[in-house]
Amino acid sequence: MYGAYHGKDGLVSIAKDIHTKAKTLSQGLQQLGLKLNENPFFDTLCIDASTLDTLGLKALLEENQINLNFFIKDKIIIAIDQTTSLEDLKTLVDLFADFLEKDSPILKETTEVDFGKLGRTSDFMNHKVFKDYHTETELMRYIKGLERKDLSLNHSMIALGSCTMKLNAATELLPLSWPEFGGIHPFVPKEQAQGFQKLISELEKDLSTCTGFYATSLQPNSGAQGEYAGLMVISAYHKTNGQGHRNIALMPASAHGTNPASAVLAGMKVVVVKNLENGHIDLEDLKEKVAQYKDNLACLMVTYPSTYGVFDEEIKEVTELIHQNGGQVYMDGANMNAQVGLTNPANIGADVCHLNLHKTFAIPHGGGGPGVGPICVAKHLAPFLPSNANIKTGGENAIAGISSAPYGSALVLIISYTYIKLLGPDGLKKSTQTAILSANYLKSQLEKHYNVLYQNHNGAVAHELIIDFRPFKAQSGIEVVDVAKRLMDYGFHAPTVSFPVAGTLMIEPTESESKQEIDRFISALVEIRKEIEEIETGKADKENNVLKNSPHTLEQISGDNWDFPYSRQKAAFPLEWIKERKFFASVNRIDDAYGDRNLVCACVPTEAYQ
Ligand SMILES: *Cc1c(COP(=O)(O)O)cnc(C)c1O
Repeated sequence: MYGAYHGKDGLVSIAKDIHTKAKTLSQGLQQLGLKLNENPFFDTLCIDASTLDTLGLKALLEENQINLNFFIKDKIIIAIDQTTSLEDLKTLVDLFADFLEKDSPILKETTEVDFGKLGRTSDFMNHKVFKDYHTETELMRYIKGLERKDLSLNHSMIALGSCTMKLNAATELLPLSWPEFGGIHPFVPKEQAQGFQKLISELEKDLSTCTGFYATSLQPNSGAQGEYAGLMVISAYHKTNGQGHRNIALMPASAHGTNPASAVLAGMKVVVVKNLENGHIDLEDLKEKVAQYKDNLACLMVTYPSTYGVFDEEIKEVTELIHQNGGQVYMDGANMNAQVGLTNPANIGADVCHLNLHKTFAIPHGGGGPGVGPICVAKHLAPFLPSNANIKTGGENAIAGISSAPYGSALVLIISYTYIKLLGPDGLKKSTQTAILSANYLKSQLEKHYNVLYQNHNGAVAHELIIDFRPFKAQSGIEVVDVAKRLMDYGFHAPTVSFPVAGTLMIEPTESESKQEIDRFISALVEIRKEIEEIETGKADKENNVLKNSPHTLEQISGDNWDFPYSRQKAAFPLEWIKERKFFASVNRIDDAYGDRNLVCACVPTEAYQ
């Protein structure tokens, strides 16, 4: 949006402004006799501080509410941006003059821009999107237009299994806009951010309590990064114990794709353990693999409740077996929405887990971030929690930083902090109970029409369930993707498609959805079952039907030509309540897999790059 609003000319003008200010400052500092980097610079100056009393200077600057970068020995680094004013530059030069006991030079504003050989000559940002929205009015309408195309939580429930799309409450989000939080640089000295520090340590403590563990690191920026951090911590632990050769990570076949990817990044070898027909870990296979690899066993990665949406009843037996053979247990905590307040990873014998604060703890997600994937660890792993090059965090035997910022995406921590403090222990527990109850209510209604894949011996699921669409293919030709698209005609975003089992939907209602909304969702899936039946019984055509042709756009519904063998009403308003809540998809179906497998350049033609 920043790029769209300013466009190429705006960005160039901002960049020139920043550069000329940096130049003005460098001239002022040089007049004071300071030695600066001679390389061509853009916005950053580097002062040779080898002969300066940097501690004294730092103290003087801080007294005047200025932080510079003193993190590198014998250097002071200053970065200018478009919010730096000429007044700021004057203050800075005056303070340096003061410190050096010299007269303040008069700052002469430069306008000269010459990057020499480093100057950019190629054209850029030529797409229409960077040219059309240069007023606030235009930009506002552009953003609104995009929002209108988006079937999001402000329209209806998104029952995206394993992703926990819950309410992101306004109260939780509002403080992010306060400058007291948003205006703090991640590297400010700790004593300048005591409020933030308090929030961070309280949140660490609360998350440790939720997981039953000893300590927490908020550094990882996603669940996957948490996995990587946790596995690096496990490796460091093994090394310290003279077990550095342990490099085998066992994981069940049902594991989320990030698990094996993180293990490989962390330098481990992945060995897959089978799942049984009922979704549980195949204990026999696990025992075999453990026996085979026990000398090099680093860890087991296990999701609990499993990605099949059930609590593995043998989980304690599993974690014990791993410990008996010298391994550690990493629990993928993406499904913590089924545990908080009822049980915890420490209970089942795990040593470390990540949490997805952007799932279980109410941070909005879906647009790629920012996420937070903290890791919580048992006492023996706490010394290895990651530190940071500039701000000390983590344990006394810390592994290197997992991300550049000491507390990861610190700003959004406020959301999870507020979520936990608003709910309190009882509220958190009630949320978990409600999430599990809602999933089981959905199951009780949907199993009358569909095959629910996994359940425990009581016929219960955890906080999500998987329904199977594979059986319909043979007779009706209908596949899970047709149902996913058709749901849009009913105003619903599809649940998780084909994970962890191909041809299925994984549904997770969360505690945020009311019974009315869940009932609407059920009625949509029940109606869709009838639509499938019409094909099965030959009442509807196998190729040309409401499911295969979905989603139906407003343009189609209101067009002069309508050649489908069913009515417009059946296409767009298959149930009465949809009239009140109609959502039109902005485009008809496109071939999903094609887009994934073929890179399509929607910008200028390739020849333009010659
Ligand atoms: C979401 C998820 C992850 C990965 O988390 P990201 O924050 O997307 O990196 C890992 N495991 C499971 C089971 C998940 O659902």
